[in-house]
Amino acid sequence: MLGLMMDAPLLITDLIRHADRHHGETEIVSKTVEGGIHRYNYRAAHKRARRLANALAALGVKPSDRVATLAWNGYRHFEVYYAVAGSGAVIHTINPRLFPDQIVYIANHAEDKYVFFDLTFLPLVEKLAPQLKTVKGFVLMTDAAHMPKQSSIQNLLCYETLLEAQDDEFDWPSLDERTAACLCYTSGTTGNPKGVLYAHRSTMLHAYAAALPDALNLSARDVVLPVVPMFHVNAWGLPYSCALTGTKLVFPGPHLDGKSLHELFETERVTMSAGVPTVWLGLLNYMKESKLKFSTLKGVVIGGSACPPAMLRAFQEDYGVNVLHAWGMTEMSPLGTVCTFKEKHLALDKEARYAVQAKQGRAIFGVDMRIVGEDGKELPMDGKAFGDLQVRGPWVITRYFKDEGGDPLMDGWFPTGDVATLDPDGYMQITDRSKDVIKSGGEWISSIDLENVAVAHPAIAEAAVIGVKHPKWDERPIVVAVKKPGQEVTKEDLLKFFEGKIAKWWMPDDVVFVAELPHTATGKLSKLTIRQQLKDYKLPAA
Ligand code: ADP
Repeated sequence: MLGLMMDAPLLITDLIRHADRHHGETEIVSKTVEGGIHRYNYRAAHKRARRLANALAALGVKPSDRVATLAWNGYRHFEVYYAVAGSGAVIHTINPRLFPDQIVYIANHAEDKYVFFDLTFLPLVEKLAPQLKTVKGFVLMTDAAHMPKQSSIQNLLCYETLLEAQDDEFDWPSLDERTAACLCYTSGTTGNPKGVLYAHRSTMLHAYAAALPDALNLSARDVVLPVVPMFHVNAWGLPYSCALTGTKLVFPGPHLDGKSLHELFETERVTMSAGVPTVWLGLLNYMKESKLKFSTLKGVVIGGSACPPAMLRAFQEDYGVNVLHAWGMTEMSPLGTVCTFKEKHLALDKEARYAVQAKQGRAIFGVDMRIVGEDGKELPMDGKAFGDLQVRGPWVITRYFKDEGGDPLMDGWFPTGDVATLDPDGYMQITDRSKDVIKSGGEWISSIDLENVAVAHPAIAEAAVIGVKHPKWDERPIVVAVKKPGQEVTKEDLLKFFEGKIAKWWMPDDVVFVAELPHTATGKLSKLTIRQQLKDYKLPAA
C-alpha cells in the first residue's frame, strides 16, 4: 500500500519561491565588483531570476544545457544560480583561480553554451574566448554603463540589458527531481579535473540537512556571509540553505581581505560566516593588528582543510566566536560532518572540549561513513584505528560527469581519499589525505597533527609538513614554515616546541623557512607544489 501524501518533487525553484513568499522582505546585500553596496530582498531576487529565465529562453538555452559562471559571491551570481537550474539547465560554476589551461579544459569538457562573468574577469575571458569551442555567447554581469567600449569577444552581451528586455512572468517548469542542476569540477591536483553533477533532489536534501542545528544551524534570525566562494562547491550550499531558512545573505564580492570582511561583518550585523582556514588567517591577523572585536558575529564554519587548534582558540577565546569545524568534499555536495558537542560533553573541562572540537565532527543525517583497512574490511570505531574513509548517501556522487575515471565506487561506497579515525561517539578525525600520508618505519605519521603544533607557535604564520625520502625509515617528516612578519624563530626553537606534544618518533627531522607557501585554487596548501619546490632538498645528516 502506498502512502496518500502529495508526490511533490524536490526542486531548487521551490527554495526561491518559498523565500519570496515567506521571507520576501529579507535582505540580500552585496559588495559589488563595480564598487559600492547593492541591497535588495528575496522577493526582488526571485523577480529578477524570472526575468533572467526568460532571457535564457530567448538566448536559446535548452534543458540540460550547461551555463557557466566565472563570478564572485554577489546578487547577480545568486540570480544565475536560480534562473539556470530552475529552467532545467545546468549551472556550471568555474573557479577563476584555476590555471587558464584548466579553465579551457573544463569549459570545453562541460560543453558550456554561455559564460556569465564578472567585470574582474574581462581580460581573462578575452584571452580564453577563442579556445572555448562550444560557447555561443558571453554575458558580462554588469550594467550598460560598465560595458567595455571595445572588446575582442564575439557575441558579448550585457546582463542588465538582457534583463531589461524581459518580462517578470515566468512559470518555472515542473521537473523530475533527479534532473541535473549544477556542475562543479574538482580541482584535480592529480590529472584533469573531473565534473561532479548535482541533481535538484540531492541539492535540496543537502540544503535541508545543512540547515539543521547540529549542522550549520541556520535560521531566519541569522545573517550569513559566505566567504567560501560560490565557485567552490556552491559556497557549501549556503545560497540554497539560506533561502530555505529565510536567512539574510551578505555577499562580499571580490573583497576578501581582513579589513573589508571585518567592515562588512559589522555594518551588516553578520552572525555567521563560512570559509577555509587561509581566509580566517588573514582576518585574524588584521583584527589583532588593528585591535578590533566583533559585535554581532556568533559563529564561523571552518572547513576545506583542517582547522588548526590555535585558530579554534583564537576565535573562541579572543573574540567569543564559536567555531564549527566541518569536513566535506566536492563529491559530497559538500557537507559530510560538522563538529558540535553532544549533551555529555557539556560538563567536560575546557581542554577536553577542545580535543572534541579539533575533530572534523559527526556525520550529518544523510551521510553514512565508515573506515576500511587495506584489505577493504571495515575497521572498528574506537578512535584509534585509522583507515580509508568511505561515504554513501543521497548527496554523494555515483559517477563523474561523462564517466571520467570509470566507476569510482567500492561496494557501493565512495572512497574519499582521506585517512581517518572514527570514535565510539561517531566523531571522525582526518589524519591525512591518503596521498599526503607520511610513512616512517612502516607506521603512519599524521602531517595534519604536526602542522597543528607548528602553527600554534606564536612566531609561525603558516606551516606545511611533508614526507621526504629517508634511506632507513622510508620517509621522514619535515616542516616547511612561514614566519609571522617581524617575528624571529630558529629551527631549534621550533623543534623544541614539538617536544612533549607528539610521539618522539614523529619529531620532524628538519625545518625549512620560506617566504610564502603555495596554495591551490581553493585556498588550500598545495603540498604537490611544495614537494616539487623541494625536490632537490636533502635531509640533514643525522
Ligand atoms: P578541492 O581540493 O578541489 O577544493 P574539495 O573541496 O572537494 O576539493 O576537497 C575535499 C578534501 O578537502 C577532503 O577530501 C579533505 O581531504 C579536505 N578537507 C575538507 N575539509 C577538511 C577538514 N575540515 N579537515 C581536513 N581536511 C579537510
